[in-house]
Amino acid sequence: MNNRVQGIGMTSQRTRARMVERLREKGIRDERVLAAMGVVPRHLFVEEALASRAYEDTALPLGFQQTISQPFVVARMIELARAGRELGRTLEVGAGCGYQAAVLAQLAQEVYAVERIAPLLARARSNLRHLRLPNVRLKHADGNLGLPEAAPFDTIIVAAAAPQVPQVLMGQLAVGGRMVLPVGQAEQMLWVIERTSQGYSEARLDAVRFVPLVSGVE
Ligand code: SAH
Repeated sequence: MNNRVQGIGMTSQRTRARMVERLREKGIRDERVLAAMGVVPRHLFVEEALASRAYEDTALPLGFQQTISQPFVVARMIELARAGRELGRTLEVGAGCGYQAAVLAQLAQEVYAVERIAPLLARARSNLRHLRLPNVRLKHADGNLGLPEAAPFDTIIVAAAAPQVPQVLMGQLAVGGRMVLPVGQAEQMLWVIERTSQGYSEARLDAVRFVPLVSGVE
């Protein structure tokens, strides 16, 4: 293990516990989501210069004009995806540095996480390797295309906002599956889409702010 992993001492455990209490105060109710947020060392996913701010409930810059998502938003999306069921086989679009994938790994049977920016994916790989999460697979790919070789998914979580719901992703949802994603441009809403044997249902929930879902890889 590297020095930063060894740095997970009581201090970061305590600050993480405080972060979990704030998430609870802000309305996260799913105890398993709160427990997962409580074990993933977010300070290992941010640049060392920002590590002291890792447990603030705020998005932080990752470079490449991208951000690590705000803890509340990560917890909220996973809580919505889980409501009343298990996550099962899960696709995350927009892995960034791998933080949400690590949280999902605590709760899902299998996590497939795709990222379009190669150096970010490399960072996610290195971050996740230190945590030894055997059920996460990372791929350098354009998430607009989903991951046909691993579909269908019980859960799809998209961490970047598309102007419309990507139809390909809807097609990769299993029957009984659920997708949580931000939709919109200047104004975005969190949508929850469910696939039933009859078709699809959708609900539009919170106003949110995500980086845009971009096409192609780099
Ligand atoms: N899940 C991350 C959030 C990263 S921000 C976390 O845990 O903090 C969203 C990420 O989506 C960025 O890294 C961005 O590069 C990526 N992204 C945007 N469009 C994408 C696409 N079409 N396919 C895959 N990744 C995409």
